[in-house]
Amino acid sequence: MGKFLKGKVVADSIAESVKREAEELKKKGITPKLKIVRVGERKDDIAYEVAAIKRMDAVNIETEVLKLPADIEQEKFIHELKNVVNDNSVHGILVFRPLPEQIDEDIVKFVIPPEKDVDCFNPVNVAKLLEGDPTGFPPCTPEAALEILKYYKIELKGKEAVVVGRSMVVGKPLSMLLLKENATVTICHSKTNNLPEVAKRADILVAAIGKSRMITGEYVKEGASVIDVGINVDKDGKITGDVNTEDCMEKAAYITPVPSGVGAVTTAVLAKHVIKACKMT
Ligand code: NAP
Repeated sequence: MGKFLKGKVVADSIAESVKREAEELKKKGITPKLKIVRVGERKDDIAYEVAAIKRMDAVNIETEVLKLPADIEQEKFIHELKNVVNDNSVHGILVFRPLPEQIDEDIVKFVIPPEKDVDCFNPVNVAKLLEGDPTGFPPCTPEAALEILKYYKIELKGKEAVVVGRSMVVGKPLSMLLLKENATVTICHSKTNNLPEVAKRADILVAAIGKSRMITGEYVKEGASVIDVGINVDKDGKITGDVNTEDCMEKAAYITPVPSGVGAVTTAVLAKHVIKACKMT
């Protein structure tokens, strides 16, 4: 029977050192500041915003939110974003994505300079992730998944990691982070043949799919560590992961719960990135 890898203790441990660093910066007269840019009123964005503000408050990081209307034109949006970029009191910028369709992310992604881009929007940070350059900012969610593996001392070096999902938000960046830790990484997606067979090779199996409880025991090797990045809402309004936890518990040695797993660590990583950005300016 597998054990849960709970996110709270991981988040608390990151937050503790972030708070210390924020206090040191304050002694030098510097207040680390995060600016969140939200376009429209999407429920997911607002929920993350509330969690992020709570986390930043707890670790002495200031947060401001720029709320923009859902129908804002691209030119106006870029103008507003440039004002945020040029505000020297702001160290880290988080823009909620996806942006509305009238805004071309392929243009906007260059506006935030890499050193303030705390959630890996700018392609320079994507390149740094590929290169394994530690001066960049990987996206917070995949880094949160890695923080959990490290906190619980799950061996990665030489191990088989299978990541199901190849998005730029989770699957691909997490694959690069696992590769940097010397895991042997396989990336799977919706066109992968014999997915259960491939997944069963994994010592570390990551589900970043967006399909409620899709990963069952059939996908899991005996003794594997299963990281569930999924956040779905089922028909009864209950939050579920991409892993059928009860079914996989029989075989997995370790498994992250949903909720209270990866999602619980993401804002702590965001706070860590704001401090890093603050020290870089
Ligand atoms: P996404 O952009 O929709 O990507 C989903 C990936 O899963 C794609 O690569 C897709 O393959 C693959 N996929 C879909 N159906 C599949 C299937 N039947 N078999 C194998 N692969 C399949 O989603 P995302 O943004 O990466 O998010 C993934 C999950 O993580 C979601 O549940 C999301 O809510 C969650 N999430 C959590 C956090 C957090 O803080 N914990 C943050 C962000 C996202 P193709 O490329 O072939 O289409």
